Parts: sequence; structure tokens; C-alpha cells
Amino acid sequence: MSIFAAAARFFKPSFVKGADDTAIQRVAASGWITCKQGHRHWGEDGAAGLLLLNRGEDGLHVLMQQRGGLADHGGTWSVPGGARDYFVAGDGERRLGAESAEAGALRETREESDLDVGAIRTHDVYSDDHGGWTFDTVIASIPDRVEVHSDPSEVLHTRWVPLERVEQLPLHPGFARTWPAVRARAEEAMRTVE
Ligand SMILES: [Zn+2]
Repeated sequence: MSIFAAAARFFKPSFVKGADDTAIQRVAASGWITCKQGHRHWGEDGAAGLLLLNRGEDGLHVLMQQRGGLADHGGTWSVPGGARDYFVAGDGERRLGAESAEAGALRETREESDLDVGAIRTHDVYSDDHGGWTFDTVIASIPDRVEVHSDPSEVLHTRWVPLERVEQLPLHPGFARTWPAVRARAEEAMRTVE
């Protein structure tokens, strides 16, 4: 794991010390970017989402969120996530790179819900490269299907949905487009999870 990923994962404050003793600061993503497919996206380092699975006696379930009215495509369903933050060196001038997809997805989930991300195991990452902007879906699982409450200013509903019923929801268009491929990768990943 890189120092950046480790920092994002284990340090709640945004300041950490780098190997050369320079302060490294995590900076929230900002700015809109237009990808090569012509969409407008928030955050120039791409975004990451958490596809969180749980297997019960009644099969695989996915944690889904209905996006709040102020969000892009408010009212549609997708997974927790958001723009990836990036790191700068102490002077703030030297850009060091973005947080990992895994760190971004877990941080966003922690920021917008009461889910204990420490109980999550990550398995795979599905990258949807739009050209100049990428959405990474982190495929993960949790042993218990816990009730999750999300920040009501961002999310209308949070619900565990049976895998085969996901496509019956009114999905966010970006999520809907990659769902068949993401679902296949998720089923593959969960084959080896107890
Ligand atoms: Zn795009």
C-alpha cells in the first residue's frame, strides 16, 4: 500500500508526515471536468464507489442508496461514493497524486453513513474509463447485513437489495451502464468469499 493510500485509510486528520518528513495534506476534490464521452463530472481525479455485498441464506444483497434531490440525477439509485481526493506536499504547491480507489470509496462511505468501514473486506476494483475521467467501483463484502443510516442531506434511502433485483430500481445512468459488467465481477469475487 502506498503512503497515500495508507494515510487516507488510517489517518482521520488530513495532515500526515511523509517519508522525507514533509507534511502531506489530503485535499478534497474540486472542479468539474468534461470526459471524452462528453459528460460533466465532479473532481479531476475521477470518482470511486463502494459496491458492498453481503451473502445470507437468501442470497447476495447489495447496499444501494437513493440519491438526494440536489445530487446529480437525484432520485436515482446507485452505491455510496464520490470524487477522489488528492494529496499535496506541505507547501501545497506540489501535487502528489490521488487517493486510491479503495481509500476514496471507503472514505466517502464513512463520511455519508454510519457504516463501520472497519468490518469491510475489499476484493476487486472495476474501472470504467470514460477517457480523461474514471469511475472505479470497489467490490467489497461485509459479514453482517447491518442496518445503515445515511446523511439525509445527501441520501433519501439506504437499503440492502437482492442482487437480481438491482436492475428493477430506477438506476443512475452511469451505474446502469456498467451494472452488467460490475455484477459479473461481483459474483466472481464472492465465489471465493466464505
Ligand atoms: Zn464521463
